Amino acid sequence: MASSAATQQPHRSGRISMPRTSRISGFRDLSVEARRAAVAETADIAPESLAVLDPDQGLRVDLADRLVENVVGVMGLPVGIATNFVVNGRELLVPMATEEASVVAAASNAARIARVHGGFFTSTTAPVMQAQVQIVDVTDPEAARLRLLEHRDELVALADSQDPLLRELGGGVRDLTVRVVPSRAGTYVVAHLHVDVRDAMGANAVNTMAEAVADRAGEIAGGRTLLRILTNKADLRLARARAVFAADALGGAAVVDDIVHGAALAEADPYRAATHNKGIMNGISAVVLATGNDTRAVEAGAHSHAISPSGHYTSLSRFEKNADGDLVGTLELPMAVGLVGGATKAHPVAKAALSVLGVASAAELAEVVTAVGLAQNLAAVRALATEGIQRGHMSLHARNVATTAGATPEELPAVVARLVADKAVRVDHAERVLSELRANS
Ligand code: NAD
Repeated sequence: MASSAATQQPHRSGRISMPRTSRISGFRDLSVEARRAAVAETADIAPESLAVLDPDQGLRVDLADRLVENVVGVMGLPVGIATNFVVNGRELLVPMATEEASVVAAASNAARIARVHGGFFTSTTAPVMQAQVQIVDVTDPEAARLRLLEHRDELVALADSQDPLLRELGGGVRDLTVRVVPSRAGTYVVAHLHVDVRDAMGANAVNTMAEAVADRAGEIAGGRTLLRILTNKADLRLARARAVFAADALGGAAVVDDIVHGAALAEADPYRAATHNKGIMNGISAVVLATGNDTRAVEAGAHSHAISPSGHYTSLSRFEKNADGDLVGTLELPMAVGLVGGATKAHPVAKAALSVLGVASAAELAEVVTAVGLAQNLAAVRALATEGIQRGHMSLHARNVATTAGATPEELPAVVARLVADKAVRVDHAERVLSELRANS
């Protein structure tokens, strides 16, 4: 990702703007309109391009009707902007679509702490997805594996001929590997096509290829082909993020030690790991969704990756103390996201989200998503290792609860303050507070 933060940049309109920063002070206190203006200014995009964030200008029913089946409407979700992100030296505002209070605030907060040591540093492998072709009823699976490998070039060429555009773009089939998989119902020969899908998520692209080679692969193996589809265990398409969180900014050396303890429990204990990883996915799924990508594909990839060398379910991230006593967080996981294909180009809000991010490739998007996952994770583990998750969470959640109870925007601050003060962030209590308030006004 090219660095553009520190230099003065020509503005879209031609004038020289101030150096851009994702550290927009007072952002949360602005009106929605003013926030949009600040986002457009920082992302250097036309303010009008964010008008689609209004529900009545976003995904129309007639477009939705072309995206999926049996459409009767569309469902809105809040889109928030995480501030403070610096990824590989580049200042970034990150759109996040989520229904959960405190996620956007927590990511922004962790990104602010990471800024002290330069933000997030990221990398990716090549965007290689794999498709599987299952072959059943093979009498000599080991020999079949080698026969398939002897025909590697033929099968690769056959698969590659399916997507000339992808090849033109520098992608295409990179390899064929074959595994023998024993199961309770028989031993299967499973051929894998490795495909560089460039800026696509790649599912349709590789599925087409798997179907194209299936018959010939079955013939060579001497069996019957059955399943032909990508694997969401996209372990050849990894994204990584690393950040140093200064001990002082976290609350001191003891906090660093306790975060390491919290993270170590997640490494060792699947019960804690599930929740630790859920925290990571709070950030990841929100950006994946906002950009029109397939949240289930990314989630499946993440969970398939959360296996320790000894075979137990574990945490996706690691936290260590470095030689200076600061906390270092790292996250590495499969990240099958695209800038083309699926809803990325069709959904107006996804297009707007991608323009706010200003990423030039699927790899850059994958890196940003992973950085947000790490930020989200740090925020949660830090809260758990200090004051507990509820204080910050509940004060934000209180807005939700007060709204559910029927509070108007004018009534909201008073109701929220009471719910937090009473330590009773519940709808029944909010309703009581509201009737009291109305009776007294
Ligand atoms: P797609 O087929 O819509 O787009 C990919 C195609 O776009 C490529 O094959 C290529 O021909 C073309 N293309 C144009 N510009 C490109 C560029 N710069 N880089 C790469 N390709 C470019 O979409 P896809 O990414 O192959 O598939 C994604 C969709 O598949 C998502 O909607 C996903 O939900 C769905 N899906 C997922 C699964 C799964 O995850 N298990 C299974 C089936 C379908």
